[in-house]
Amino acid sequence: MTTNRTSADLLALADRTFIKNYRQQPVVLARGAGAELWDVDGRRYLDMTAGIAVCCLGHAHPELTRRLAEQLGRLTHVSNLYWNDQQILAADAITSRSFADRVFFCNTGAEANAGAVKLVRRWQQLVADQPARTTIVSTHGSFHGRSVATVSLTGQPKYREGFGPLFGPVEFVPFADLAAARAALSQPTACAIIIEPIQAEGGIIVPPPGYLAGLRQICDETGTLLVFDEVQTGTGRTGRWWGHEHDGVTPDVMTLAKGLGGGVPIGAVCATERAAAGFAVQPGGAVPHASTFGGNPLATAAATAVLEIIERDGLLAQVTAHGEHLGAALAGLVRAHGGAALEARGRGLLRGLRVGANAAAVVARARELGVLLSLAGADVVRFAPSYVVSTAQLDEAIAVLGQVLAEGVATPTS
Ligand SMILES: *Cc1c(COP(=O)(O)O)cnc(C)c1O
Repeated sequence: MTTNRTSADLLALADRTFIKNYRQQPVVLARGAGAELWDVDGRRYLDMTAGIAVCCLGHAHPELTRRLAEQLGRLTHVSNLYWNDQQILAADAITSRSFADRVFFCNTGAEANAGAVKLVRRWQQLVADQPARTTIVSTHGSFHGRSVATVSLTGQPKYREGFGPLFGPVEFVPFADLAAARAALSQPTACAIIIEPIQAEGGIIVPPPGYLAGLRQICDETGTLLVFDEVQTGTGRTGRWWGHEHDGVTPDVMTLAKGLGGGVPIGAVCATERAAAGFAVQPGGAVPHASTFGGNPLATAAATAVLEIIERDGLLAQVTAHGEHLGAALAGLVRAHGGAALEARGRGLLRGLRVGANAAAVVARARELGVLLSLAGADVVRFAPSYVVSTAQLDEAIAVLGQVLAEGVATPTS
């Protein structure tokens, strides 16, 4: 069903009907194709957000759309009282392309991380026989989700304000500080560390080479587990299937969501054989973890399609190449607009430009000029376009961002 109502009309209706928890750009989107979107009034936007690193194949990708439509016509939900064909194929599609031996499906990134925390706690308590090992180590500046458990793991106090008492114990250490991680994980109560291979919401912060490998070694030495939150960095976003591949290490547990379904909600907890034992049903015991919608045939068909299309179309190499093009263009903005554009960051098609001031105003002005961007942290403008974006489209977005910088929007006043 399409609507013939105008943006102004719908925005007024939304103002009366929504809980006011968001701060959306005043745009009502109705249609997309690839890296382009159109609002209900027919205005075109160039999309550098891909729904926050979700729509990795772009909007309305023809083959993904066809495969989803076919699945909708066959089966959408049966619950985990039974197996379904699509979930088994999706688990194979993930495990055959990763370190993981086993997968648990859920629906969102927060659910995947909350599931991972249950998994590592139960592994310590029931498999390793270490009931005192309950503390989850996390990093300052991290983002792991919005549920009470995952907001408690998130190392940015603004997300936790007003929601206490929180889940714990959680111990925060500085990102990219191996000595701090070693001290926290050496405690006899340490259970696991959860970490993003690149801190995304925190400002697109790439750790120095050797950091993730160092964490792997510390976890092995201390009997703690290594959990990579790849909700944003996974599924090809950095030019490899999983962000940790750049560092030549594998975790015990990896969480996925965002890009995995190409726009259809799906999350996953991926684990080694050893770590997966934490969720094994005990003889005579209850099911330790479950999700009604998790592993449903529609979402898992989407995940298999996304992985197969990325592979068949050579999109990992394209993410690398177009990511380097974008990174070079952002570095060019830093050279051209010193003071307003301070630093280009990122890997693959997860990129950021740290600006001198008013990052939110930069995003708003770019949107007025027809380019959709988002924020990462307080002062970073994020690019996370779809993997099918063309270099011409990237250049168009860079030109608009250059115009916004030239207008002085991001220039500090004092
Ligand atoms: C987005 C994000 C989450 C939360 O995912 P939701 O699907 O919004 O629950 C968790 N971790 C990271 C790294 C993310 O980028």
